[in-house]
Amino acid sequence: MSGAVTVRVPAKVNVRLAVGAARPDGFHDLANVFLAVSLFDEVTATAADALTVTCEGPDAHRVPLDRGNLAARAAEMLAERAGLDPAVHLHIDKRIPVAGGMAGGSADGAAALLACDALWGLSTPRAELLDICAALGSDVPFSLVGGAALGTGRGELLTPVDAGTFHWVFAVADGGLSTPAVFREFDRLAAASGTEVPAPVAPPELLAALASGDPDALAATLANDLQPAALSLRPGLAGVLAAGADAGALAGLVSGSGPTTAFLVRDAEAAAKVAAGLDASGTCRATHVASGPAAGATVLPA
Ligand code: ATP
Repeated sequence: MSGAVTVRVPAKVNVRLAVGAARPDGFHDLANVFLAVSLFDEVTATAADALTVTCEGPDAHRVPLDRGNLAARAAEMLAERAGLDPAVHLHIDKRIPVAGGMAGGSADGAAALLACDALWGLSTPRAELLDICAALGSDVPFSLVGGAALGTGRGELLTPVDAGTFHWVFAVADGGLSTPAVFREFDRLAAASGTEVPAPVAPPELLAALASGDPDALAATLANDLQPAALSLRPGLAGVLAAGADAGALAGLVSGSGPTTAFLVRDAEAAAKVAAGLDASGTCRATHVASGPAAGATVLPA
């Protein structure tokens, strides 16, 4: 139980986020096609006297450093299962936008779990790590697995899917959006429309486009059922989507619950051009260029 273990973990974008009606337990059934992208946080676990969390990065001041941090909760859950004291220092190098719809907190939870498992020499079976991830949150199992996957249930029941390589530009907005608030707005809009919310499905043409690696085919099928709710809460996002289209993106959509917006582009060269156009538009705080699928949480060589 000495040394330090660093785990690198990707952000995600939902290339299809289909949302069903609210269930009696308040959750929504989802058909959620995740793609992990090359925008990474790193979590380093070091033996310590007590559980502590520190964070660096442009959004570090918005990350809770107490037991509300998903990385801390992951360490506690793993320690409890192993009958250990969660005496570990977790340092988060935060590059994924906070509360941005890119599963940054979930990513840190998965990364901390893997880092503590290695630091404590537990070799916990993968299936048990995935169970802990699902208990931590709906998006956490995917952060561990990475690649591309279809998530059903609350999004936590994962089936891997084939995916070619796709290039993206992410536009980071000022401030965040609360995922529960966006789902509440989804419910409000659904009730106001008076129509029944259909059962969520991942269309076969989307899965075929993802497997083909053809950006034009994927651009034609990208969709996010949470987008109207995110736009209703943050009307300014429409301007970011328009700026990305003007800059030459093949398609743009709100990432997950937002407010980060994701733009699919043809290649790395187009990504640089679209990022420059978005930066110049003044509609967003920052841009990130990334590609996917990226590997899930990975222990880095010491
Ligand atoms: P998702 O896409 O899974 O809905 P998100 O990307 O919109 O999530 P997160 O960055 O995960 O949002 O943060 C949501 C909230 O979770 C934050 O406002 C913060 O209070 C809390 N949180 C807990 N742990 C972390 C963490 N390690 N990093 C960032 N936020 C965290």
